[in-house]
Amino acid sequence: MGPFELISKHGEHEQVLFCHDPNVGLKAIIAIHNTALGPALGGTRMWNYKNEEEALIDVLRLSKGMTYKAAAAGLNLGGGKAVIIGDSKTQKTEGLFRAFGQFVNSLNGKYITAEDVGTCEGDMENIFMETPWVTGIPKDFGGSGDPSPYTAHGVLMGIKAAAQKKLGSDSLKGMRIAVQGLGNVGSHLVKYLVQDGAKPIVADIDQDRVKRHVDQYKIEAVSPDQILFQECEILAPCALGAIINDQTITKLKCKAVAGGANNQLAEARHGDQLKELGILYAPDYVVNAGGLMNVFVELEGYSGDRAFEKTRKVYDNVLKVFALAERDGIGTHRAADRLAEERITTIGRLKQRHQGKSSRSFTTMREVHNR
Ligand code: NAD
Repeated sequence: MGPFELISKHGEHEQVLFCHDPNVGLKAIIAIHNTALGPALGGTRMWNYKNEEEALIDVLRLSKGMTYKAAAAGLNLGGGKAVIIGDSKTQKTEGLFRAFGQFVNSLNGKYITAEDVGTCEGDMENIFMETPWVTGIPKDFGGSGDPSPYTAHGVLMGIKAAAQKKLGSDSLKGMRIAVQGLGNVGSHLVKYLVQDGAKPIVADIDQDRVKRHVDQYKIEAVSPDQILFQECEILAPCALGAIINDQTITKLKCKAVAGGANNQLAEARHGDQLKELGILYAPDYVVNAGGLMNVFVELEGYSGDRAFEKTRKVYDNVLKVFALAERDGIGTHRAADRLAEERITTIGRLKQRHQGKSSRSFTTMREVHNR
């Protein structure tokens, strides 16, 4: 299938930019899915794709996901994403990222980039040499640093909203919450849960991480193959995608699922099945939007306190999704998409009408860059 056919098959993208600079070995694709709500923000993934078609499909899919995530988060941002084709362990150079930065710059703020799988703060710093349209730059430059404490705090809010809806109270005191994965997000989440008086049950394939958490918080740990099937109020997946699938779904013993991992449902039909099973699903991209909220604050001139406050909004956002699911008699995963689409339609139209008045301009980024 040719690139144009692939682009029409994977969504109505506004623009797809192929970036090629043989001098530095750059082959990258930037996909701008939708800018109705604001500039398209999404990370740059560096991955050793099997071929260019695989890279194009990935960037089209991921950029569309960002549109929904930003819209459901209530942010004035659109959805975009970039992929650099290459091995992130062996093929990174300053020239590669600066050349990529020039392509980002050529879009004049329509696309704003950030870290993703295979890229790090140092790479963002190289991109920043060429363009102000990058987030996740070092704190010295006005950046926001590691997003995971903010993501985890948003996840805590998502868990509270699920508890409120399913159990009638958002107090987590004494509540059994199974956390799969003790990485960047999971470890911060466990800290917040313990502070709130919850009783986390944890698992990770890395036994050192498990031991550290058990020693520090005196909490229960189970083996990685058992964590999903714990008798508990809430299951919080914070490791892998597609963990709710044909093999696992009927064995779940939780009342609700609310966690930080991306793409928790193997397929959309598993969301419908959760509804039939009476398990409340807090949609992943609504729950894990705290990291995106954090970089959004960076665009306005960064303040950690303000970013932390902003992540509290995840609570209301998740409750809104539950209410819409009830109103329309659909699964919460479908309600999240509907909520995002409704916002894009109504607010996007408003922004068109008031262009230049209602939209905030991200001047701080330019100021920092020009310093
Ligand atoms: P991470 O790599 O730091 O942590 C993942 C952890 O999961 C690791 O400790 C790993 O050992 C563990 N793990 C892997 N397989 C496992 C298994 N089968 N059972 C139990 N544990 C297992 O990643 P992270 O940054 O904490 O992100 C976690 C998830 O949240 C990912 O899906 C990521 O895409 C998503 N997410 C992260 C952020 C963020 O701010 N970091 C934002 C949005 C979404």
